[in-house]
Amino acid sequence: MSTISSAPNLTPTPTITERAHLEAVDVCAWFGSTLVLDGVNLTAELGTVTSLIGPSGCGKSTFLRILNRMHESIPGAQMAGEVRLDGVDIYGAGERVTSVRKKIGMVFQKPNPFPAMSIADNVTSGLALTRTKTSRAEREELVETSLTRAGLWREVKDRLDQPSSALSGGQQQRLCIARALCVQPEVLLMDEPCSALDPTSTRRVEETILELRDQVTIIIVTHNMQQARRVSQRAAFFLAEQGAPGGIVEQGVTEQLFTSPVDERTANYVNGEFG
Ligand code: ADP
Ligand code: MG
Repeated sequence: MSTISSAPNLTPTPTITERAHLEAVDVCAWFGSTLVLDGVNLTAELGTVTSLIGPSGCGKSTFLRILNRMHESIPGAQMAGEVRLDGVDIYGAGERVTSVRKKIGMVFQKPNPFPAMSIADNVTSGLALTRTKTSRAEREELVETSLTRAGLWREVKDRLDQPSSALSGGQQQRLCIARALCVQPEVLLMDEPCSALDPTSTRRVEETILELRDQVTIIIVTHNMQQARRVSQRAAFFLAEQGAPGGIVEQGVTEQLFTSPVDERTANYVNGEFG
């Protein structure tokens, strides 16, 4: 509880343990014998969108894949370090990959719905993968709530049984967000989710991110500096210098990172001088 008696009207800030809390500790990654990420530390809290920025090839996607145990399915890929969700290492003995991925969902750069599958079945497809038993009525409700949270319900509610290929690219990406939300993840990882979308669809996805922010911890990779400023409260700048592995140069409150960065390399990047 807050002990600041001079500010009685402040809503008490939840303690760290009350928040869904994803923490990467000293994460390293290799492809074969090549070290591509070295000693990455990052904490993401509920109620906060964290953006990862930095030039291509500095390990942002690799880092996201480590956060939901997708990295280990790439042949030759290795990692070290810990990733803790609410204090529990997702790589710990007894942690199952499917249950980790249920808690930590991912949305990719290119919308990847199952094209022949109906809109409704796309939304619930994660339930089978995570072996979640549901009744028909529960599924119908999950379809509606997931599509509503993803900002797509009104556009598709009258054609839920049509194939997802009938949707525009922006709608398909929101369908993928609905699919990720259907299994009720605690964390949502988004790897350049708008880079294939038009400005209107991009705005819809950004609105969705802001609406989800209080319920789901979001980490988003973006090359769009304006987008990072619009949607994220914290930001981390990744860089891999010539011949060196990638890592975080600087992280902190988004506005500070953009307006008064501490490191000269961050300043050069956010001012568009490279990358
Ligand atoms: P970013 O998302 O920041 O562009 P990546 O995580 O995709 O960076 O890549 C980081 C480094 O790892 C790059 O040098 C890239 O070439 C290398 N890399 C990525 N995926 C693989 C892979 N499957 N096999 C070998 N090297 C890879
Ligand atoms: Mg990438």
